Amino acid sequence: MILRGIGASEGIGIGSAVCVREQNLDYSAVVYSGTEAEQDRLQQAIQQFNDKTSAMAEHIRTQVGQKESEILTGQIMMLSDPFMQSQMSELIQAGQCAEAAVDQVCGMYAEMFAGVEDELMRQRATDVRDIRSRMLAILLGVSGMDVSELPAGSVLVAHDLTPSMTVGLKKENVAAILTEVGGRTSHSAILVRALELPAVLSIPNAMEQVKDGDSVIADGGEGTVYLHPDQATLADFRKKQADFLAQKALLAVYRDRETVDADGNRYALYANIGSPAEAKAAAESGAEGVGLFRTEFLFMDRTSVPSEEEQYEAYLSVSRTMAGKEVIIRTLDVGGDKAVDYLGMEKEENPFLGHRAIRYCLDRPDLYKVQLRALLRAGAEGNNIKIMLPLVTSLEEIRSARSLLETCKAELEAEGLPYHKEIPLGIMVETPAAALIADLLAQECDFFSIGTNDLTQYTMAVDRGNAQVEQLYTTFHPAVLRSICSIITAAKNAGIPVGMCGEAAADPRLIPLLMTWGLDEFSVSSSAILATRANIHHWRADAAGQVAQKAMGLSTAAGVEDYLHSAIQ
Ligand code: PEP
Ligand code: MG
Repeated sequence: MILRGIGASEGIGIGSAVCVREQNLDYSAVVYSGTEAEQDRLQQAIQQFNDKTSAMAEHIRTQVGQKESEILTGQIMMLSDPFMQSQMSELIQAGQCAEAAVDQVCGMYAEMFAGVEDELMRQRATDVRDIRSRMLAILLGVSGMDVSELPAGSVLVAHDLTPSMTVGLKKENVAAILTEVGGRTSHSAILVRALELPAVLSIPNAMEQVKDGDSVIADGGEGTVYLHPDQATLADFRKKQADFLAQKALLAVYRDRETVDADGNRYALYANIGSPAEAKAAAESGAEGVGLFRTEFLFMDRTSVPSEEEQYEAYLSVSRTMAGKEVIIRTLDVGGDKAVDYLGMEKEENPFLGHRAIRYCLDRPDLYKVQLRALLRAGAEGNNIKIMLPLVTSLEEIRSARSLLETCKAELEAEGLPYHKEIPLGIMVETPAAALIADLLAQECDFFSIGTNDLTQYTMAVDRGNAQVEQLYTTFHPAVLRSICSIITAAKNAGIPVGMCGEAAADPRLIPLLMTWGLDEFSVSSSAILATRANIHHWRADAAGQVAQKAMGLSTAAGVEDYLHSAIQ
């Protein structure tokens, strides 16, 4: 039997299932022992929770990393929130036992977080549920299943993998992790990727379908799980597993190497990030800079606009983490599929074609100036920050943004605050309009970065998030490839650097084309850095040129894709 979920952490895990069932946290038999006594029980439990969680956070920090440990310290902060605690105290005042107070308040928060559209906010629901069950376990004195005792070769199956559960895992005993909930960017996914354990998340009814002791193969890249596999499937996946591990070991040698092709030509290999914490992961994975910091994430996980000071801190932190290496920060790219409720943007019939990104920002100079000022100030220390505008379609947009930037400089000058006087201003080329006038745009900006995710969507007229038209969404279409080629050429002719930060930059099949056309910089997710560096290493310029020429002579997307697939073998 084959089960399908979300492949959240690459690798092949083969082993036997161990299902982690929920503990019995029924507190109906607890007798209310008076306001004061219950308040005391609550405070002691919070103390114990904080002590245990800090110890776990410390363990994770040393075993995995600072970023991952912050998931647990975040739980301490959540439970320390005076408002949350006062809500619990009020319930105790009203005659409820400490267990009921914790259960109801956490339940309310979990429901609230689970109901929002934003994925990052929804993850908080998992954190609050984790807090609730661990607080109840402390209050009731029940001990949970000790995951540190799992036998070797265990495939852990759980409804949700909570951060606290992940901490106890002995990596060497766990073959894979399967859950019923959680997405690729959920906290549990971040943790399992950091532990380098294969994981398939969001498998419907996994806890019913898989029984303790079942023989299981999990493919964390494809997101598939094979229950009771036959001998032939087992042999097949043992080989895939060996290949995967061998490949990973081979890639490790590229960590501290330069990004050069087989002829020694250099390329810049940068990372795409969404937060200062991700900058650390990027630096650790061997990125030579940041090619795209999606700042909208700073605006998303909250209820009001981040202040100039907060933004300044975030940008400065990334600049410092990258220690002098280039950091390209994209200004707020909201709208489309990225909603920020408190900005009060109007609901639109066609949000991807609507009042979004640079269009919205230029109409909200009050808000935009806060970001531009923060960027100018953060750029003063390392001189390594560059500003990038999203969704540009016209020269006027660059001019307006530049004029606003000049106003901000004048203000900072008058206030006597340090700022980067020559901060470079570049644009994402991600609309057909920008691609077609790339030569004109290149005259008035300092660099280009090609956003193939949107460029493909708009060139093909295919919604990038609509599964029904998924097969039409392809960067291999000659229209998209010609567009990319002409954007790079326009940048070369104008003498400005050109990078690519869409997903296509990490596609091994496109590397020979991008190299041939003269792309200067590839910006990919941190997990794709080493593979991209290795792929670039393999190509000689003349071989890549022949492949590019042949590919561009083909007339269909399928033809190009098939050809490139065979060409990289
Ligand atoms: C793109 O459009 O290619 C891009 C990198 O930006 P985003 O995915 O954030 O739209
Ligand atoms: Mg985009």
